[in-house]
Amino acid sequence: MAGKRLYQIDAIVIRRRDQGEADRVLTLCTPQGKVAVIAKGVRKVHSRKAGHLELFAHTRLVLARSRSSWDIVSQAETVEPHTSLRGDLTRGTYARYVAELYDRFVAEGEGGEPLFDLLRRTLGYLCEAKPGREMNLLVRAYEQRLLALVGFRPEWEWCVGDGCGQRLREENGPFGLAPAQGGALCPACYRAVRHWPGIVPLSPAALQLLRACQREPFSRLRERPVPPAVLNEVERAARHYITYHLEQDLRSGVFLRRVRREEERYDGSGNVP
Ligand SMILES: [Zn+2]
Repeated sequence: MAGKRLYQIDAIVIRRRDQGEADRVLTLCTPQGKVAVIAKGVRKVHSRKAGHLELFAHTRLVLARSRSSWDIVSQAETVEPHTSLRGDLTRGTYARYVAELYDRFVAEGEGGEPLFDLLRRTLGYLCEAKPGREMNLLVRAYEQRLLALVGFRPEWEWCVGDGCGQRLREENGPFGLAPAQGGALCPACYRAVRHWPGIVPLSPAALQLLRACQREPFSRLRERPVPPAVLNEVERAARHYITYHLEQDLRSGVFLRRVRREEERYDGSGNVP
C-alpha cells in the first residue's frame, strides 16, 4: 500500500513560502503541470532535504500523496543546481522574472512537459549567458515561446487588423502593436487605429527581432547582431503585450482551455511551430 502513495517527479522550485514552525510550501513547475507541495521540517538546521529544494534548482522528488492537503516531499535529490541563479544578482533577477511569468500564466494543475522543458532549458542557459545583450535576448525568446505555449502566441507575420490579414513586409513600416488583437498591424491598419487605447508603434527592426525570438533556436539567436535600441524596443513591446493579457485573461479562465489546445499542437521538438 505504501508504494502506491509514493511517486517520483522532476521539478523546478519556482516559489517558496514558510509554513508553521519548520515547514515550507513549494510551488513547482513539473512535466505534469504546476503543483504546490509541502516540505516538512525543512527549515530545521539539520534538514537533509533543504539543500535539494533551492529556488530555481532542477530537482527530483519523491512525493507522498495526501488526500487532505498538499502532497509531502519524502525525498529530494538535485539534478541541476543552477547555483549561479542564486549567487549572482543579475542572473537571479532574470531567473525570478522567468519563473514568475510561468507562475502567472499557468494555473495550478495546468501546464505540462513543453512548459517544463522551456523553463528548465531557459534557466540552464541563464547560468551561462553573458550579462547584457545575450541574457536579454534569451529572456525575450523565452517570453515568445511561453506566450505560444499558454495560448497567447503573438502574430508577427500577418496583419491582425480587422478584415486585413495581409503579410507584414519589413520594408514597409512603421507597424503597430495591438495586444487586444493579438499581434502586429500593417502600416495602413496602424494609421487607422493609432489613437486607440493600447496601440503602440513597432519598428520594422523590432518586428523582425520578435519573429526571430519566436522561431529561432537560442544558439542561433544569440549570434544575431542586435542594436541596443532595437532590443529595448522589443523588451517594451513584450511587456506591453504581456501586461495586457495578464490583466485581461488571467481572471477569466479562458486561457485554461487555450493551454490545453496549444500543448496539443506543440510538436515536441522544443521549438514552437
Ligand atoms: Zn492591415
